[in-house]
Amino acid sequence: MAAQEPTSRTVMPGYESVFGKAKGMVFPRIVLVGHGVLDELATTCHQFDFPERGAVITGPKTADLAGRRATQILGEGGFSAVTVIAHEANEAEVDRVAEEVRAAEARFLVGAGGGSKIDITKVVAARLHIPFVSLPTSAAHDGISSPRASLRGASSIVSTEGAVPIGVVADTQLIVQAPFRLLASGCADVISNLTATLDWRLAVRLRNEEYSSTAVALSEYAAQEIMDHASSIKPSLEESVWIAIRPILVAGIAMSVAGSSRPCSGSEHLFSHALDRVSERPSLHGEQCGVGAIMMMYLHGGDWKRLKNALLTIGAPTTARELGVRNEEVVKALVMAHSIRPDRYTILGDNGLTREAAERLAAATGVIG
Ligand SMILES: [Zn+2]
Repeated sequence: MAAQEPTSRTVMPGYESVFGKAKGMVFPRIVLVGHGVLDELATTCHQFDFPERGAVITGPKTADLAGRRATQILGEGGFSAVTVIAHEANEAEVDRVAEEVRAAEARFLVGAGGGSKIDITKVVAARLHIPFVSLPTSAAHDGISSPRASLRGASSIVSTEGAVPIGVVADTQLIVQAPFRLLASGCADVISNLTATLDWRLAVRLRNEEYSSTAVALSEYAAQEIMDHASSIKPSLEESVWIAIRPILVAGIAMSVAGSSRPCSGSEHLFSHALDRVSERPSLHGEQCGVGAIMMMYLHGGDWKRLKNALLTIGAPTTARELGVRNEEVVKALVMAHSIRPDRYTILGDNGLTREAAERLAAATGVIG
């Protein structure tokens, strides 16, 4: 009799004692980045040997920008694709979109839109067990190539498992047309990796948490790339998208390597999630994470001023006022942050910040004034 229950992995008899570790990593196979690469969509789909029928999931606005054009390109390339318009990213909408995809007998998906449309596509692809290509029209966070998706629940946003895109077609000509605020938010999300990895290292020392130096190297490389090129990231400049999009994609890959969001999500993300709950009008995810990272870097004793300067240079928010939230909401979110996800150990510890410490932290870093 074996002393242990069998693990989920089947080991060939006789090989049990050789080496017991196993881990799966899923990555996009083709990543196309550049001016006008939308035109390569059908060629890319043929490289994956996709069957004839597909569906392009897009939003009401992004349909005109990219969704219908994507369907047309697939049609000209020998595919038979339908356009499915998706609305807010929630469970009911995922069910409705999945039903439309099933009715169209689509065997592959293209998610053409901003973060929420790609998130819907990720979840539908995972549920129907069909592949999908990510065609972002903006880059407001690092989820373009990651397996995680955010869906709106009854009272808050919940993170759920989705599929990793088999391909990414990131057309800089399209993405530059999105409001600059979105790209700046995506950059802030990636810069916030710097506190996420510090939190991870801390959890390794204090909790013996599993660690991936590869995931950390990728995550920190992505953040450094954005920091080093902050002065070149400007509105209405297609080259800015070119500079920013690759680190944004690399951050997603860091999460695939880790098998979790750990390398890109620590105390600064807990702050952002807490702010989503306490604020009447929460701001963009990446913007909130950037402001959170300033404060968490201060707690870590790191160079928070350099981080703040990079955000200022890009034009991402660094204060409560710029986020459009009240000072009191920032303080409340800081006090609440540690309780959002107790299994994720961070600089906030088990008990989090006292109200007085939260006030002092936000004031010392100039987030509230
Ligand atoms: Zn994020």
